[in-house]
Amino acid sequence: MSEVIEKESQVKVGMVSLGCAKTLVDSELTLGILEKNDYKIVNDVEDCDVAIVNTCAFIHEARAESIDQIVQLTALKEQGKIKKLVVLGCLPQKYHHELESELPEVDAFVGSGDYPRIAEIIKEVQAGKKVVEVGKPLYLYDAEAPRFSLTPSHYKYVKISEGCNHKCSFCIIPQLKGLHRSRPIHDVVEEAKRQSREGAKELILTGQDTTFYGKDFENKLLLPELLKELNAIDDVAWIRLLYAYPVHLSDRILETIASSDKICNYIDVPLQHISSRMLERMNRHVDKEFVHNLVKRIRTIIPEVAIRTTFIVGFPGETEDDFNQLMDFVKEAKFERLGVFTYSYEEFSTSSKLEGHIDEEIKKERLHRLMSLQQEISEQENKRFIGKTFSVMIEGLAPKGKPGYVGRTYMDAPDVDGSTYVETPESLILKPGDIVQCQITDSYEYDLTGTFLNNK
Ligand code: SF4
Repeated sequence: MSEVIEKESQVKVGMVSLGCAKTLVDSELTLGILEKNDYKIVNDVEDCDVAIVNTCAFIHEARAESIDQIVQLTALKEQGKIKKLVVLGCLPQKYHHELESELPEVDAFVGSGDYPRIAEIIKEVQAGKKVVEVGKPLYLYDAEAPRFSLTPSHYKYVKISEGCNHKCSFCIIPQLKGLHRSRPIHDVVEEAKRQSREGAKELILTGQDTTFYGKDFENKLLLPELLKELNAIDDVAWIRLLYAYPVHLSDRILETIASSDKICNYIDVPLQHISSRMLERMNRHVDKEFVHNLVKRIRTIIPEVAIRTTFIVGFPGETEDDFNQLMDFVKEAKFERLGVFTYSYEEFSTSSKLEGHIDEEIKKERLHRLMSLQQEISEQENKRFIGKTFSVMIEGLAPKGKPGYVGRTYMDAPDVDGSTYVETPESLILKPGDIVQCQITDSYEYDLTGTFLNNK
């Protein structure tokens, strides 16, 4: 009898997790702590006692989205659907002073490195206190940290480091996440083994600059050593590396990826621009020649590689000639995966002080021209996969109008890249995380379709 009463009085907590994969890991850790402290984690944030929104603040649009979400939750609070509201992460890390006065309905503001105290903070909030817990972001979790999964069980993000020591002139992330700090190799390996025991087939390594891994504790770049240890873990099928930084993407890292059977031949390396003038104004420590050689090195050492990159258009001072250099580079490099952002004015970034800020219309027009070019390239390049056989990790049943099941090849990270649709015999039942052999029969701008061969 007492058990039932206790369960009913459990405090229900709901989470809205915005932003990047690193922030998603923080959300999972926050909920892991709360679950361990006997809070009940609920899916529906509209029906909970305490709603938490983990925010993003790296560019204007992301801040606007975070504010919108907070405003929606304050409306639910006014309607009595939620009792308390906690705002966590990058937005309060930088802007809690303004937010405290602009959003008085919020019960707690918690910094990007302060969530380890979330259980105590919620206790104080429930006791009617307003809490502002925003310290210097120094925290980095370890393998023992409890985690509440917010992704499908067959893939997991593993944060190998947090923070960043670089000073790219357009970026305020180091002000939001702090300086670079790596987790020891044995600790990442221990977590990876636990995640794979719990069903993860794909481990996605993330950080602000994963190629800087280890520099802070042994003054050596140790990513190859970490990758080799992770590649030796039996139950893991795929290991994917995100957020490489051009300067540190060494041949040693590329050769380790090329010679490791579980590490996807997938290189995610934001290049941002190609014009040496722009790269210098962005404070990227590389020039045009370096970037050209880097792409050549990647394609030489990993012939079947899929390169994902991102570019910023409309950076202060970008001329038509700078932009045309970028168009020519994209035409020549034929990236498999490409994202483009318009330059976002950030008052706390050093680039905000530069002259030559560009009109929003011109920025949008350049983004459109570059994405249209990439669409043509991607459609053309995808044709070369017809007839080839790929391992496809199943995500689930294909949406209405599409054949069989939907999945991803090694060329596709979750949520950002393309999909492969696998036609299967009526009777075949597949589950998320299954890896099947699929022969490609057709291609589109960003997606592929194919026929199921076997599930080896
Ligand atoms: S590498 Fe540059 S863009 Fe990336 S998080 Fe660090 S400062 Fe920002």
